[in-house]
Amino acid sequence: MADASNRSGAIDTVMHEERLFPPPAEFAAQARIASFEAYEKLWNEVAADPEAYWERVGREELHWFEPFTQTLRWNEPYAEWFVGGKTNASYNCLDKHLDEGHGDRTAILWEGEPGDTRKLSYADLHKQVCKFANALRSLGVEAGDRVSIYMPMTPELVVAMLGCARIGAVHSVIFAGFSAEAIAERNNDAQAVAIITADAGWRRGKALPLKQTVDEALKKSSTVKHCIVLDRVNEAVHWQPGRDHWWHDLMRDASEECPATPLDSEAPLFILYTSGSTGKPKGILHTTAGYNLWAKKTFQWVFDHRADDVYWCTADCGWITGHSYITYGPLSAGATCVMYEGAPNHPDEARFWEIIERYKVTLFYTAPTAIRAFIKWGDEHVEKHDLSSLRVLGTVGEGINPQAWMWYHTKIGGERCPIVDTWWQTETGGVMMSPLPGAIATKPGSCTKPLPGVIPKIIAEDGTECGPDQGGMLTIAHPWPGMLRGIWGDKERYQEVYWSKVKGMYLAGDNARCDRDGYYWIMGRIDDVLNVSGHRLSTIEIESALVSHPAVAEAAAVGRPHELKGEAVAVFVTVKGCEPSEELRKELKLHVRKEIGALAQPDDIRFTNTLPKTRSGKIMRRLLRDIAAGREAVGDTTTLEDYSVLASLRQDEE
Ligand code: ATP
Ligand code: MG
Repeated sequence: MADASNRSGAIDTVMHEERLFPPPAEFAAQARIASFEAYEKLWNEVAADPEAYWERVGREELHWFEPFTQTLRWNEPYAEWFVGGKTNASYNCLDKHLDEGHGDRTAILWEGEPGDTRKLSYADLHKQVCKFANALRSLGVEAGDRVSIYMPMTPELVVAMLGCARIGAVHSVIFAGFSAEAIAERNNDAQAVAIITADAGWRRGKALPLKQTVDEALKKSSTVKHCIVLDRVNEAVHWQPGRDHWWHDLMRDASEECPATPLDSEAPLFILYTSGSTGKPKGILHTTAGYNLWAKKTFQWVFDHRADDVYWCTADCGWITGHSYITYGPLSAGATCVMYEGAPNHPDEARFWEIIERYKVTLFYTAPTAIRAFIKWGDEHVEKHDLSSLRVLGTVGEGINPQAWMWYHTKIGGERCPIVDTWWQTETGGVMMSPLPGAIATKPGSCTKPLPGVIPKIIAEDGTECGPDQGGMLTIAHPWPGMLRGIWGDKERYQEVYWSKVKGMYLAGDNARCDRDGYYWIMGRIDDVLNVSGHRLSTIEIESALVSHPAVAEAAAVGRPHELKGEAVAVFVTVKGCEPSEELRKELKLHVRKEIGALAQPDDIRFTNTLPKTRSGKIMRRLLRDIAAGREAVGDTTTLEDYSVLASLRQDEE
């Protein structure tokens, strides 16, 4: 029940999850970091002298054209890592492996949605990237120029990213589901000089007309001089001579010789606009060396990657997960990566399991929203396939409800695979908290412990540090190599959003608590906290209580104004295997009361077919808050996946 010591404005914890899953002995026996003691020792070593550690690891893990002279220059809130050094992320992802004699190793095992496949070795990928970098140069693209990328999940998307990185151009990948409006906004904010797209991309059997959307966007993007078009689907497209260029024409004429440009450690590598769960998209800036190192090192730690692994991250390169854990992390580590173009339910709901079986995937990384969909679609799709190759399962993007975690553990992992619930953000560049699969026992719903180099502190509203099990603002105490270097073109917003609320600390924008075993539990976004009768409650705990009921597929909890209580608990629920009813509503209220207490019992339960989500699949609670309060949704909705959801939620109301 709620903690009485709430003077500081800490968030109450109502959830109690006691299950503990130690790393399987067999797994730990061969892991890189093979015991809790080994993890702790490393964490302490890095915390005691982060610069000494990163100096050594930076030298070892990246290729340096010129060595750096200073590991960290910290002028709060601005960090420079590996000062004075020159490196190149494309070199680290490609040439380094060729230099080490691994050119034949498979880099990408690609599968298109219609079933077409391609296999690229590191040498193949290197060749494509060199040619494409020259193609960019032939259009006048130079180091420091911004290039937008709006492409389907084809190997060329990775080639485009690494081609930019090779010559020091700064990519800005825009998820290929965004509208023309959203593309134009991003082109203009970044002042992009070129955009790379395709005629179309496959999604659920349909060709999405990407070039057409880009044409619309370019009417309002005055800085963009060139548009490169990959012929993916063979769709007829509008053509503007001089501006538009076919990918294959440029590639045919381009030389294979393209030495990677030695770039300053702090040369901008990319801008990525965050999905906007909470408001107007921000152009998060990452630079070369620190980001590259963080992506590589965290990939190796979190997935315990080995040379013979087959790794599959189901994210899109339009999100940070695709940047760090499809492109820069795994490729720097020399991993063999599966890449899939399309939807998880095309041609049917077994597609992912079929892919895992076909390529004998060993490391699998996906999002809670997908896991909840798999559960809803039914176990029969999973059971048809041999998933015995899997050895580590990961999740990212939202908190995972313990019920969904248990399903993932039993149905997908065969109770044999450690689950790494990875907490991180676009801003952090890579994973910050996660179990190390051979070293840290897991608890369903907890991202467990910080990675080496990450020093989290949980701070209450009054600025004091929270005690065990008290929820508060999650902050990070020391700069880390992968941290964002700013918001593109907006110094003030960077200072204000991340560095103004808690002195000297990076403010993540999420709430969390640390339990008595030192395990971290993310409690949702700061802006989403509910305030019920003076108690501050976390969204995820109420949602997890609902999802633990067999009839609930997905749930979102928000506060709505209430005269007496300050806020009432309003929840939106999608059901599985039954129809919504008055009876079920009563039952769910009682269920939550029984699971986590009377305080958290929902006042309103609204059944709905779908919840409003960002295009990356995250529940947009701020819109639900408006709906629960009977207001028009006022905030930015450009990143909403499906506008009709809002209309239908309003209709449900009537
Ligand atoms: P915006 O910042 O524009 O609102 P966003 O926060 O959704 O968008 P991302 O950087 O992709 O954009 O997502 C990071 C956020 O996702 C985290 O701050 C957290 O709220 C949530 N998140 C990610 N991983 C986890 C996790 N393992 N457990 C709980 N929450 C997570
Ligand atoms: Mg965010």
